[in-house]
Amino acid sequence: MVICYSLTHLQRELSLISDNYKTGFVPTMGALHQGHISLVKRAHELSDKVIVSIFVNPTQFNNPLDLERYPRTVEEDCKRLEEAGADIVFVPTVGDIYPQKDERMFDLGGLDSVGEGPRRPGHFNGVAQVVTRLFDIVKPRYAYFGEKDFQQLSIIRYFTKELNYPVEIISCPTIREEDGLAMSSRNMLLTTEQRAAAPLIYKTLKMARERSQAQILSPDELCNWVTGEINSNSMLKTEYVEIVNSLTLRLVKNWNDHEQIQMCVAVFAGSVRLIDNIKLK
Ligand code: AMP
Repeated sequence: MVICYSLTHLQRELSLISDNYKTGFVPTMGALHQGHISLVKRAHELSDKVIVSIFVNPTQFNNPLDLERYPRTVEEDCKRLEEAGADIVFVPTVGDIYPQKDERMFDLGGLDSVGEGPRRPGHFNGVAQVVTRLFDIVKPRYAYFGEKDFQQLSIIRYFTKELNYPVEIISCPTIREEDGLAMSSRNMLLTTEQRAAAPLIYKTLKMARERSQAQILSPDELCNWVTGEINSNSMLKTEYVEIVNSLTLRLVKNWNDHEQIQMCVAVFAGSVRLIDNIKLK
C-alpha cells in the first residue's frame, strides 16, 4: 500500500496504473471504523485498484467547533487500510484540494431542502466541492458511499449525473455496533453515559418501521412518536425526525402516495450530533 501525502505523489502513482484497470475510490474523512472498512472491502470486489482518501474537508463544516474537534487518527487509519487491502491512500493538504478558494455553487436539485440541508447551511455544497475535486483528481470508475449518510448519497448521485461524471456510484449498507448504534467517527466523542443512551435511536427507528407497516399513525404522527421516544431519554435530543420519499427526498404526508419511503433523524447527545435512517417501505 502506498501512502501519498501530496497531490504530486498521488498523480505519479496514478500514472503507473494501467488504463485497463477499473479503479475504485472510497473518499473518507478518516477516524476509520468498520463502516469505512466495509466500503473498502466492497471496492475490492469490483475494482482492480482501490484508492482511499483521508481528508477532513473544511468547506462542508458549517460549525467551526465541529471541524476543530473532528477526530484525526491518520496513522491508525493507514494500518487498518493496509489490513483491508487498499492499494493507495491519499492524504492531501487543504492546499492540494483547494489551491484557491472554492466559490463553486452546485445545483443539488432541491434534494438539500430537507434533513441536513436547512440545519447545516452550505454543508452539501461543500460535499459537492470536495467530491467533484477528488473525482477530477482520481478519475475513478467506481466510487463507494455509505447509506448511513442517506441524503449525501442521493445528492452525490444527483450531481455526478447532472455533471456527466463517468463514475458509477455504489451504495453500501450501514454498519452498526452490536447494540444497533450506527458506526460513526463521532461516536468516539460520546461520554460513557451518552454512549449508553445512543442505541435508543436505532431501536426507535426499528419500532417506527413496524408501526409504519400497520399504518395506524400518519407520517406526521409517527415522526412525533419517534421524537417523544428518543427525547424520553434525557441524554438525547432530536433535531429533526422526517419521513421522505427515498428518491425525491420530498416530505411524505400520506403513506400511499409513495413507493419508497425512508425515515431520517438527527439527534444530539450533548453537543455530539448523530444521524441515522431506516427504510420504511
Ligand atoms: P466520513 O468519513 O464520515 O465522511 O464517511 C466516509 C464514507 O463512509 C461515507 O460514504 C459514509 O457514508 C461512509 N460511512 C460512514 N459511516 C458508515 C457506516 N456506519 N456504515 C457504512 N458506511 C459508513
